[in-house]
Amino acid sequence: MLIAGNWKMFDGPDPPELAARVAGIAGVDVIVAPPYTRLVACVEAGLTTYAQNVHWEPQGAYTGEVSPAMLRALGVRGSLVGHSERRQYFGETDAGVARRAHAALAAGLDVIACVGETQEERDAGDMETVLRIQVDAVRDACGPHDRLVLAYEPVWAIGTGRTATPEMAEEAHAFVKSLLDRPVLYGGSVKPDNAAELLAQPSVDGALVGGASLDVDSFAAICEAAAAVRP
Ligand code: PEP
Repeated sequence: MLIAGNWKMFDGPDPPELAARVAGIAGVDVIVAPPYTRLVACVEAGLTTYAQNVHWEPQGAYTGEVSPAMLRALGVRGSLVGHSERRQYFGETDAGVARRAHAALAAGLDVIACVGETQEERDAGDMETVLRIQVDAVRDACGPHDRLVLAYEPVWAIGTGRTATPEMAEEAHAFVKSLLDRPVLYGGSVKPDNAAELLAQPSVDGALVGGASLDVDSFAAICEAAAAVRP
């Protein structure tokens, strides 16, 4: 079971305190994805640390971007790609997400590639079409790479307090796995009180946690729920 915390553009908790709190939780791989400014502190605290995004070139005139090699030099283990906030607010496309994922894997980073439909798309009955387009882009670029993990994050459930029901999550995860056979994390308002039932679904391999990962106790409680579901 894999539990990843996306700190977004927040400083997040104290890395040594978080590392000490999650160290004893057996059977769960814990990942943190802080903003770039907190990467080194997280690495130094012994946390498995991911960036929130990564560029495809090793270096160059790409203002505001960071390369896979630069992240590796800091001791960063992997990166998120294709988070819906990147797609929604910064115009990232399926093609760009696929390039980022491929370059990161090729450079030795692990990757969590995020996919998910908006409320509008779900209401229009287009969930599967949208997921297929997003997953196919990553699959065509990377294949079923053993350092690639997917995250199903319905956009309508991110930061909204609205969570997919366990049945909705299971259905979407099973569909994503039918397209690309890799572990799939669920993301979208995962909290200590709903984690266990989501993580108990057979096609849910972990969680990508936003808001609740900013609080050490909440994040640790989600990690403990994961450990209890599949010890
Ligand atoms: C996320 O940022 O990936 C996320 C799922 O956020 P939240 O848990 O706050 O909905």
